[in-house]
Amino acid sequence: MIEVKEVRKVYGKKLTAFTALDSVSFTVPDGASVAIVGKSGSGKSTLMHVMSGLDKATSGQILIGGENILTFKQKKVDAFRSERMSFIFQSFFVQGNESCYNNVALPLEIAQVPRRLRKEKIEKALAAVQLLDKKRSKAKDLSGGQRQRLAIARAIVNNPKILFADEPTGNLDTATGGVIEQLLFAYNKRRGATLIVVTHD
Ligand code: ADP
Ligand code: MG
Repeated sequence: MIEVKEVRKVYGKKLTAFTALDSVSFTVPDGASVAIVGKSGSGKSTLMHVMSGLDKATSGQILIGGENILTFKQKKVDAFRSERMSFIFQSFFVQGNESCYNNVALPLEIAQVPRRLRKEKIEKALAAVQLLDKKRSKAKDLSGGQRQRLAIARAIVNNPKILFADEPTGNLDTATGGVIEQLLFAYNKRRGATLIVVTHD
């Protein structure tokens, strides 16, 4: 369960201070799929960043499995995140000069998954997004939709319990965006993972 309690986020100081989140509270049960909807500038990305510990809330509590991540030291936040969370962004954030295989390998390296266990996980994740035949292709040679599928493969390869997606279909045509949505919901159902999707529509 993720509990967000009275969370405030203020950017800047004094004259330039801007309150992006003002006492936000809600709860997300494990395995739920949740959409965060709002117009541009309403604080959706900010909320996702503070929920995941990518950025620090100014005050309030963010409890994940009962632990308040705002009380953690940065190192513990980073470890917590790499063990159980993944992200997908609007802008197909992948390493262009690396192969699809190496892009998906990255989170496993960071999490120090033993090398002999990596290959099967990587191929499984690439197969889940129908990119196994592209494993030796460089990411920059993929189409936008394929790149976003690669970002999903990388996000799910280490079996995260929480998947965050920030306007993941925002740069895609409707049909391609639909495929991306289906892949996210399929992961949510198959693994019982929590899915939090930010969208402006
Ligand atoms: P959304 O994702 O809903 O479009 P954001 O969370 O990116 O909105 O931004 C919410 C508000 O916070 C906006 O008014 C934005 O200008 C402001 N904001 C975001 N990041 C910063 C920052 N680093 N410094 C100052 N203001 C910021
Ligand atoms: Mg945003």
